[in-house]
Amino acid sequence: MNVLDSEMVVASLRKRGYSLTDQLEEADTILLNTCSVREQAENKIYSLLGTLREFKNEHPEKILGILGCMAQKDQSLVFQRAPFVDFVVGPGQLQAVPELIEKAQAGATRQMAVGRSRTDGTVEQVKRTHETFDPLRDPTMRPTPFQAYLRIQIGCDKFCTYCVVPGTRGPEQGRPPAQVVSEAHVLAEQGCLEIVLLGQTVNSYCYQENGKKTHLADLLKQLHEVDGIERIKFVTNYPKDMTVDLLETIRDLPKCSPYLHVPLQSGSDAILQRMKRGYSVQDYRDMMDRIGTILPAAAVASDFITGFCGETAEDHQQSMDALREFRFKNSFIFKYSERPGTSAAGRLPDDVPYPVKQQRNNELLAIQNQISAEENEKFVGQVVEVLVEGPSKNASRDAKEGPIQQLTGRTPCDRIVVFDGNQRQVGKLLPVAIYDNLPHTLLGNIVTQHIGPDVTSLQLS
Ligand code: SAM
Ligand code: SF4
Repeated sequence: MNVLDSEMVVASLRKRGYSLTDQLEEADTILLNTCSVREQAENKIYSLLGTLREFKNEHPEKILGILGCMAQKDQSLVFQRAPFVDFVVGPGQLQAVPELIEKAQAGATRQMAVGRSRTDGTVEQVKRTHETFDPLRDPTMRPTPFQAYLRIQIGCDKFCTYCVVPGTRGPEQGRPPAQVVSEAHVLAEQGCLEIVLLGQTVNSYCYQENGKKTHLADLLKQLHEVDGIERIKFVTNYPKDMTVDLLETIRDLPKCSPYLHVPLQSGSDAILQRMKRGYSVQDYRDMMDRIGTILPAAAVASDFITGFCGETAEDHQQSMDALREFRFKNSFIFKYSERPGTSAAGRLPDDVPYPVKQQRNNELLAIQNQISAEENEKFVGQVVEVLVEGPSKNASRDAKEGPIQQLTGRTPCDRIVVFDGNQRQVGKLLPVAIYDNLPHTLLGNIVTQHIGPDVTSLQLS
């Protein structure tokens, strides 16, 4: 979400004649886009502001703005902690950035553009202050021009007890399908092959107009028709909304990647209830069974939180058991971080000591790493379709060696593949034969034989 927000802000400033620099000395305006999901992310920003204090003293003419969820959450606290900041802008008000810069240049200080809190007005009034502006897409701002995020949903209404997002990004709102499809056409015209649809609970997407509801499955069918777009992914999913209809739609639309990021968060029903996730482990198991039946080749990924309020050794054991049972392709594992303003912070003690959170985190990671390696092993000997993203991390070190270099890309199931190739292959969809694997990477060779329309006979995985 933040990567996309930054792309939009830069596009809106470029349109007004600004250009981008990563050199502090060259910049007239410095913008920090922030996250507040965990305390550590905020600490990094406040510590960076500490180092910018002197710089701003020496260059008072330079404008400094704080954008994003931490700005929305902390609001005037940002000015208390860093009085030299010129403006603070929440994620639903980013369209205001160019005007705030101009006003700051004209002498305005400590400006604030933030969304209303969830209880400050009617739902409609609150929603209006958390809308993102009409997108201006800027391919040069993306890590690669042939891949793009496309927001289909704003905000979240699930209110998991640990999470700041419903507060910082406001009520859940589906974007009108016609707007999403027209943005996909713009992206395709810019040469984009892969779109990643974004929403906090993307598979809960729903847009209602004149009594007609559009769900994610309907939207996928419309996006599938966009010429030029070859791959469609979507993150992040909510277990209860992984319906049979959606899974069958993914199965029937070849451009839809069978990669499903559906966070479980914990393997203990007691913890899931305390997190107010709205499902039990058995509900999740039923969902995995549906996926296994309809999309047997799907790769499922998860998130876990270790050390949530009151988590016992038995709860943790159940998370380890769930990891072993569900065999996720990968899992993002986080230590619980108490967030002011969430309902857990108000009523549940953060009582698992940090070293225990850390230890449990390490234990889950070790199990996941072993499973990821075993799952990757199954690809050895297969041919997979890879969207070539660019030189691999290793290649950048030896890039001057010659025309052949190590490239990296991803399969439809989001597996990372590394192989030798040349710069001209970047941005192409190519068949790669896998000969070896590491826990998080497949190693392969581009299949050089002629690939015609019968490409599926290679049994792409
Ligand atoms: N909407 C997505 C969902 O429900 O899965 C995830 C959004 S959240 C920004 C990304 C992940 O951060 C969550 O899945 C959760 O594992 C983790 N997370 C959220 N709040 C957290 C907290 N207070 N402490 C630690 N991890 C947290
Ligand atoms: Fe946060 Fe839960 Fe919403 Fe995800 S579903 S953004 S974890 S409140």
